[in-house]
Amino acid sequence: MSRQQERPDEQSETLTFEQASWVDPDGDRYEPLLSEKGSETVEVDSELPDDLTRDSLELPNPSEPELARHYTRLSEMNYGVESGPFPLGSCTMKYNPKFTEDLAARADASIHPDRSERSTQGTLGLLYELQTYLGDIGGMDAVTLQPPAGAAGEFTGILVAKAYHETNGDERSEVIIPESAHGTNFATAAMAGYDVVSLPSNEAGRVDTEALEAALSEKTAALMLTNPNTLGLFERDIEEIAEMVHDVGGILYYDGANLNALLGRARPGDMGFDVMHYNVHKTFATPHGGGGPGAGPVGVTEELREFLPDPHVRATDTGYETHTPDNSIGKVHGYDGNWLVLLKAHAYITRLGDAGLADASAKAVLNANYLAEQIDYEIPFGPFHHEFVASAGEQDAADAAKRMLDFGVHPPTTKWPEIVPEALMTEPTEIESKRTLDQLAAAFNAASASDTDTIEHAPSRTAAGRIDQTSAARNPRLSWQALDDEE
Ligand SMILES: *Cc1c(COP(=O)(O)O)cnc(C)c1O
Repeated sequence: MSRQQERPDEQSETLTFEQASWVDPDGDRYEPLLSEKGSETVEVDSELPDDLTRDSLELPNPSEPELARHYTRLSEMNYGVESGPFPLGSCTMKYNPKFTEDLAARADASIHPDRSERSTQGTLGLLYELQTYLGDIGGMDAVTLQPPAGAAGEFTGILVAKAYHETNGDERSEVIIPESAHGTNFATAAMAGYDVVSLPSNEAGRVDTEALEAALSEKTAALMLTNPNTLGLFERDIEEIAEMVHDVGGILYYDGANLNALLGRARPGDMGFDVMHYNVHKTFATPHGGGGPGAGPVGVTEELREFLPDPHVRATDTGYETHTPDNSIGKVHGYDGNWLVLLKAHAYITRLGDAGLADASAKAVLNANYLAEQIDYEIPFGPFHHEFVASAGEQDAADAAKRMLDFGVHPPTTKWPEIVPEALMTEPTEIESKRTLDQLAAAFNAASASDTDTIEHAPSRTAAGRIDQTSAARNPRLSWQALDDEE
């Protein structure tokens, strides 16, 4: 039976408390569709051909307060960066300042992408400035703003490395990636046609240089690394690692997801990295969308500039123009990339300035270290920077995470990286105050102290209990109709 049929219709005389408050018998909160709350038939009178129109249409007819409450209730059933702390390790879930949204919402920010470059000099100028800012921040000589996400940036960067090797007549078949790397690194290398060589960590949780030595050869196209790594540890041997990779003719790729730890303090380019992507939606405070729109600009050293995607913005004597780099890998996105996301990144960087960016990374590292001091779970690896990976020990990390939801906070990333058993990968970011970090620590410690029965049945204070995450991802029902048909 569908949930819909359990609901009272408008004619019901007396409602039980559960019905009136839309709470399921098992305690889950429930918000009906607007059309379930009432609808009316609207006559359609149109100039369009008869076979393209309907005579009438059923439309919901809520009053304004009903409508406002409907969306407010839906938003309360969810959790976001504006609900409370969101320490999802590696994802850098920062609050997005509203002034950047205000800029992106301005009517004059929406320009048609086919307009002539003569009439869009302001836009091109902003894009050019952002390329320059990102180049300065990462220590890179040239930047493309085209890729629409970090993963798309990785793919673009590895295609650039591949084009570079091919232009040199160099046949290389392998990309080396640490075991603890983000899944997108492995996917990127495979999609670009490379064999993946997986690199173990040493006991300290960092790159094992002996294993790296053994993995490197004239087949090595690139080594992909993030620094600090996914345990939050700075790869102290990075200069030696860069030299080892360069000695065999390989390219050193920087996964920029952890740039929040280094902003204004250290630059991947200075460490010897040749290519990097920036996760604009992590480091520069634009929203993480469910798959987009985001932006994953890519920076490269001078020798890789000619391979960047088409088009690329450059300055001329009289203004700005787009051009196709000489040996471009081609298009990776339409027009100039996700312009409004890039505009927000420009605004954020400009507002913070050099001192603000350096302050952000200092606070990101301070907050992670302060939080770590307050929690009862063990943290096997350190010293860490902007994030740490605690172990849930005897508990299942997913249970501990669900229990934390009961205390009004978002839990950390769980079960990754695998080098820490039952991992709770935690990144509070610089935006949280001491008071919020204390609240977060209390949630960790309450989960840590919970008995098995409690955490196995958690959460009990959220809009929904445990949902079947695997089926939701593998077998999504994307419309209400689909759910009804099945039931
Ligand atoms: C988030 C992340 C990525 C992928 O970035 P998206 O923008 O989500 O595609 C890659 N590597 C690491 C380490 C990440 O945390």
